Amino acid sequence: MITMPLNKWIPNFRSPLVIAGPCSAESEEQVLATAHDIAKLEGVKVFRAGVWKPRTRPGTFEGVGEKALPWLAKVKEQYGMLTSVEVATPKHVEDSLKHGIDIMWIGARTTVNPFAVSELAEALRGTGVPVMVKNPINADLGLWIGALERMSRMGISKLAAIHRGFSIHEKSQYRNAPIWKIPIELKSRYPELPVICDASHISGRRDLIEKVSQKAMDLDMEGLMIETHIDPSVALSDAAQQVTPKVLGEILANLDYKVPYSTDSGFENELESLRARIDRTDHELLELLHGRMKIVEKIADAKIKSNITAFQVTRMKEMMDERVNVGEKFGLSKEYVMELLRVIHEYSVKRQTDLMDRAHVEKSEGKEK
Ligand code: PEP
Ligand code: MN
Repeated sequence: MITMPLNKWIPNFRSPLVIAGPCSAESEEQVLATAHDIAKLEGVKVFRAGVWKPRTRPGTFEGVGEKALPWLAKVKEQYGMLTSVEVATPKHVEDSLKHGIDIMWIGARTTVNPFAVSELAEALRGTGVPVMVKNPINADLGLWIGALERMSRMGISKLAAIHRGFSIHEKSQYRNAPIWKIPIELKSRYPELPVICDASHISGRRDLIEKVSQKAMDLDMEGLMIETHIDPSVALSDAAQQVTPKVLGEILANLDYKVPYSTDSGFENELESLRARIDRTDHELLELLHGRMKIVEKIADAKIKSNITAFQVTRMKEMMDERVNVGEKFGLSKEYVMELLRVIHEYSVKRQTDLMDRAHVEKSEGKEK
């Protein structure tokens, strides 16, 4: 995937890229009043507004449609911000192009559908319009990457990913669970791909937006999308998660902005010596794991002789509980210890079944002779 950094497609780019504006364009007055106040904030470069709204249930507000596009053209003309909308069909792309929309994004409900994504990629091909792809509703990194690839294959290199959280079954304080390891994995695979955090759709409520945005900054994400409405109390969609331009300004002022590297030699030296300790610790851990595997092999021998299964569910449960207790004494979370032990145990069982398989083959061969 060949992608361009944000500074190549956002004029006068300053990190982080802030995209703000209402969930939905509702009226010309609402759009222009919101844009007027957002434009006063330093560093907000891109205005967003949903024009066609993919709503969960019919009969709710589904956006005003094409007639909102001239309002966005006015935002650009009067306040100098770039404009962005969500597109879900080739017709949306065509209409948006007609009205000079600068950036288009693919919504979470569209990213899940490879047919729809392909049609959009075809419609966007050769237009030069930057495209931002939201993660699919479900926690499926492959589907997210697939949608980005479909854009990339059509020659779209002004490409970014938007992390908007995932719909999960478990109860959570978030509207869409952030599952940060997924955007981290995306960034590890495609280091050049800009990743923007949609803190509003993750949060679902205003009071969480600053915390989520800070986390995104701490994880070196390159931008924030924050839904902003001149009067959230009367918003026709996502009222609980929209903030006023004034609150947006406060959030942006409160955030600690960080960089992934430093030019301070004192800090670099300290980091280097701490990292040397981490390296040594990891080597010790690997040596211990090697020793552990040798014991596992002895256990496998004993089990083979006595015809005992490799996997013993009661043993696994006891071991997990015991390790979680020990871990807690060291201040290690239950989740961390469980995840670690799960992998260690999984590979122990695998080693044992591999050895059992070999013993079985040898025994059968012995019988044949
Ligand atoms: C939106 O940005 O208003 C929207 C509908 O988001 P998502 O696709 O993330 O649900
Ligand atoms: Mn919304």
